[in-house]
Amino acid sequence: MWKKIRMSILLIILVWAAVTTWQDYHPNWQRPIFVLLHPINADGDAKTAAYLQQLSMQEYLELAPYLQAMSKRYRAPIQVYFQLGRELQQAPPVLPQQGAWLSYMLWSLKFRFYAWRQHQSSDGSPSVTLYLNYQQGHAGQPLPHSTALQKGRIGVVHLFATTRQREQNQIMILHELLHAFGASDKYDLLTGEPIYPHGYAAPEQRPLYPQQKAELMAVRIPASTHSSKMAQNLKSTVIQMRTAQELGWIAD
Ligand SMILES: [Zn+2]
Repeated sequence: MWKKIRMSILLIILVWAAVTTWQDYHPNWQRPIFVLLHPINADGDAKTAAYLQQLSMQEYLELAPYLQAMSKRYRAPIQVYFQLGRELQQAPPVLPQQGAWLSYMLWSLKFRFYAWRQHQSSDGSPSVTLYLNYQQGHAGQPLPHSTALQKGRIGVVHLFATTRQREQNQIMILHELLHAFGASDKYDLLTGEPIYPHGYAAPEQRPLYPQQKAELMAVRIPASTHSSKMAQNLKSTVIQMRTAQELGWIAD
């Protein structure tokens, strides 16, 4: 009797794990997508605190229309809603610098545990949760690497706490959001240069250079085979075919 009960419980857990994993890897774009944004004062700076004080949904208004317009190139426009959640006091665990496979695995477990602990019932059940690590940064130095996990659909995005960076922040947020939905980077991890053809906004353009826009998963606009510049705003980015395939917006 007990053995049977134990077996059924185990079976239920296994089925539940399989179903949630499948859902994480196969987003249902027929249904509305809810994205919860949690701002965090990542450097404890007073200027960052002041920036977070004035932060409102105004900052993220362009995100949903952008995704609707881009998805419309491939399918019926998706419905996506962004919501600005509570400011969190604790930042997500720090991503290992250039860690081995094992330290990355450990980090992703810690990050999922962090997300589970921070979650409150008032947050609802968002499709994706992004932790926005706002900070002042140091002149000439890049911010730490942002990352999103497809499993559990969570991401940490490092952003500058200044209105001047607003448009680039929007690019960062959407880039990580698409990672959470399975899109891969389209730039060379060593050089940072967009990879041809999938990292190009207009790979069929002749002459090929200079390109006018960036692919969102490459974030840079190619000027030649080995030079490019950072996209300055969402208007100068597009979501190309390969990314759309990875997201499940078009059949493979
Ligand atoms: Zn990326």
